This record gives sequence, C-alpha cells and structure tokens, in this order.
Amino acid sequence: MNIILLGPPGAGKGTQASKLVADRGMVQLSTGDMLRAAVKAGTPIGLKAKAVMEAGELVSDEIVSGLIGEKLDSMAASEGAIFDGYPRTEAQAHSLDEILASRGRVLDHVIELEVDEDALVERITGRYTCANCGEGYHDRFKQPKAEGVCDVCGSTEFKRRPDDNEETVRTRMAEYRAKTAPILPVYEARGLVRRVDGMADMAEVSAAIAAILDN
Ligand SMILES: [Zn+2]
Repeated sequence: MNIILLGPPGAGKGTQASKLVADRGMVQLSTGDMLRAAVKAGTPIGLKAKAVMEAGELVSDEIVSGLIGEKLDSMAASEGAIFDGYPRTEAQAHSLDEILASRGRVLDHVIELEVDEDALVERITGRYTCANCGEGYHDRFKQPKAEGVCDVCGSTEFKRRPDDNEETVRTRMAEYRAKTAPILPVYEARGLVRRVDGMADMAEVSAAIAAILDN
C-alpha cells in the first residue's frame, strides 16, 4: 500500500500519518525531513544535496527522486509508503510513478484531508495552553472549569502561539492550495483521490482513512 497524504497545516495530517506508521507499520516519506537526514548521514544523494544547498540553489527534482528511491530501497517490500510534501508538480508526479514502478510498487490512493477554511481559522486561533504545565485549551471548545485557572496545575498564566492568528492560517491555506493545484487534477483523472473530512474528530478521521485503506 502506497499513498500520498495531503492536507493543509492544522488539518491533522501529521497525527494521521503517525497513526498509520504506528498501526500499520507504514513508513512516512517526508521529503524535507529526508533531505535533512540524508545530508546529516552523508549518503551519496545527501552529499549532492548539501553541495547544491551550500551554493544557495534549489534542490533539483533529480535529487529528490534519488532521495525517495534511496529510502524505498531501504524499506521492506511489505512496508507501505506515505508520501508527504511530495509530489508538488505534475513532473514530480510522473517521476513518482517511475520510481514506484521500477520497484514493483504502485500508488494506491491520494488521500486529502479536507477542511472548511473558516472553521479551521476558528479552531486554530482559539487554541491556547497553560504556560506552566502545557495543558491545551480553546476559547470555544475547551475553557478551564474555573475561569482563568488551569484545571491541571492551578496556574493562572496562559500563552498563545504567535502563528495561531487568522492571517497566518489563511496564508498557509492559500499556499497549500497553490501547491496541490498542479497535482490534484493528475490524480483525479486517474480516479485515485479520496477525500476525508479533516474537521471531524481525530478518531473519526482515522476510521475514515482506515476504511479507504482496507477497501
Ligand atoms: Zn497548567
């Protein structure tokens, strides 16, 4: 089973990917992380990427493809792959087909966690945490039982992440749409795209993804 997992920041993509790794022994291929790891480990592709980045240039598709191939070759045939953050372009989508085909793999599904942008803004901008123990709260969905006092530790200090503001959320949504726009039609045409409601409870989202994979 090989899938591409798509979803804007805040849709819970990371959580769902971790769950697939834990429950099904799948391997997450996050190109950003893989690039950093390859550079650090000094693999042949990593050394090439390092030289390119040190020259201030963008890492080419060829390097990214090499990185993915290197990773797939290190996996057992029984281990499924979750592609995260790749492909971004139609050309990369075609490269991915070739990389998989040359290893006897196929792309089974492209799963998109769909969000309602306004609801996502509300979800993200309303969240805050206890400054002392880190317990999470939300303006609308989870207020402390006693106003202004942490349920867990009694602290009266809370904090919000500066990124959790409307403008940032909307900018990230726009970036996400721009990044997926080139590849979604490619996979739509092949009937591979499955949509899951990313605004549902975490458990419901997991169940919906499991139903797709088990179908
Ligand atoms: Zn606390």
